[in-house]
Amino acid sequence: MGLMQSHPLLISSLLVHAERHHGDSEIVSRRIEGDLHRYQWRDMARRARQVARVLDDIQLPLSGRVGTLAWNGYRHLELYFGVSGSGRVLHTINPRLHPDQIAWIANHAGDQVLCFDLTFLPLVQAVHSQCPTILYYVALCDQKDLPSDSGIPGLISYESWIEKQPEDYTWPQFDENAASSMCYTSGTTGHPKGVLYSHRSTVLHAYSAALPDSMAISARDAVLPVVPMFHVNAWGIPYAAALTGCKLVFPGKQLDGKSVYQLIEEEGVTFAAGVPTVWQMLLDHMKNENLRFSTLRRTVIGGAACPPAMIQAFQAQYGVEVIHAWGMTETSPLGSLCTLKNKSLTLPADEQMKLRCKQGRAPFGCDFKIVGDDGEPLPWDGKTFGDLYVKGPWVVRDYFPGTEEGALVDGWFPTGDVATIDTDGYMHITDRSKDVIKSGGEWISSIEIENIAMAHPAVQLAACVGVSHPKWDERPIIVVVTRPGMALDKQELLAFYDGKIAKWQIPDDVVFVDEIPLGATGKMLKSRIRQMPEISALR
Ligand code: ADP
Repeated sequence: MGLMQSHPLLISSLLVHAERHHGDSEIVSRRIEGDLHRYQWRDMARRARQVARVLDDIQLPLSGRVGTLAWNGYRHLELYFGVSGSGRVLHTINPRLHPDQIAWIANHAGDQVLCFDLTFLPLVQAVHSQCPTILYYVALCDQKDLPSDSGIPGLISYESWIEKQPEDYTWPQFDENAASSMCYTSGTTGHPKGVLYSHRSTVLHAYSAALPDSMAISARDAVLPVVPMFHVNAWGIPYAAALTGCKLVFPGKQLDGKSVYQLIEEEGVTFAAGVPTVWQMLLDHMKNENLRFSTLRRTVIGGAACPPAMIQAFQAQYGVEVIHAWGMTETSPLGSLCTLKNKSLTLPADEQMKLRCKQGRAPFGCDFKIVGDDGEPLPWDGKTFGDLYVKGPWVVRDYFPGTEEGALVDGWFPTGDVATIDTDGYMHITDRSKDVIKSGGEWISSIEIENIAMAHPAVQLAACVGVSHPKWDERPIIVVVTRPGMALDKQELLAFYDGKIAKWQIPDDVVFVDEIPLGATGKMLKSRIRQMPEISALR
């Protein structure tokens, strides 16, 4: 055996590091009250210890679950570290889910404490009677802001909950494979499933997230996770931030283009992360107001395919590097990130752009492969597509609470995505297996059809779905929301596809709608789109 020290990889160790070595690095949060709250990592660590103390005080058992319904902000961050650090499990719940689904998730997870922002009080009022396991309700606010007539038994304010607790605490040491936090898949493909992360998986993921070919987060960065802390732990940024000691900037609930832009400029944000639909609001605002970034250098975009037009806009118009990333709740979430290799930097601009539109390369720690219907691995030629499988120390082994058979096939996790991998290892998601359009025995990528539409100046949002067809089985149609004040007709959009894809891949029809339904994590909800009356009429 080696003769080195053995320390378990625990989430509390990230916080101890941040406090000792970056204690005066700032954490700035836009509060739901509207004002900006600022303090430093050392203040955060102190209050996280008070959270741990209060959980001891109420005798919440180790691995007991603490649910949150909260925006990105400092109190949520304190729970991230205080709950997991003390050996309990932080369960971030997506407040955009349907209330019945939220109650279902809280019951399934067996949450015993629920901490929530006051924005979500009506939601908690609607579901609390269906959540018998929850014993403590904590509103993330000052005592003075606590409503007296909430109707929620024993409701207490977070500030009064932690205030009397001593500020010192010795973080317990335990097995790094212990559960630390959990997150349910957003359920775009059925019933939500619980993914239970461990301390080890979280710390290793944080290391990887900060690497230069990942998010490249350093102590010199000011990082804005626009991606919510209830969406796969804000892609691991809170942990990577503690690991590097960077400045953190939280947007609270104000995710509109104007507010996000203001925060980026005022706080000197250098790196930001979000899903395409949120970034679209930012880009629209900047275009309308003719604005520029003065500090933002990089952004990671993922959670759904990033339209090439968006990558182009960020890079060409605003000088911001886009790192396209792919991942799932089941992969913590970073499964691949697209940064170029040296040899690609000499490629012509349009070739580089094509590469950047792919979902990228595997970081050490999340390997991937594509397989055919027979389960055999397919070649990495950039053309052959197959089912994407992943494995690594931050990839799920089984869903909560666990089964005998697990969720893996020969040690690999089946993602449900369809992809190609090229000779340099760049993975490209062509579709989700259930969104692929099967026309006359050939496959059409709905993402490719959407990306072309999104490049049209009059298109704000576009979704491609298949409708059944007597001869071809299925044919693609494109559902479009036009930009305010801009006109677009069917023929013009269809003509826009000419020469960009094969004729048989061009959608059969264009349906204009006022709104495309978005899921709880800002992704287009294909299942709901297929049910829209305008679409089901075409079947
Ligand atoms: P859900 O599966 O419930 O939507 P997740 O947030 O875990 O919840 O979503 C993971 C899925 O999102 C992936 O399997 C993939 O289909 C899609 N996805 C994530 N990032 C990308 C990306 N960059 N390009 C295309 N699809 C993506």
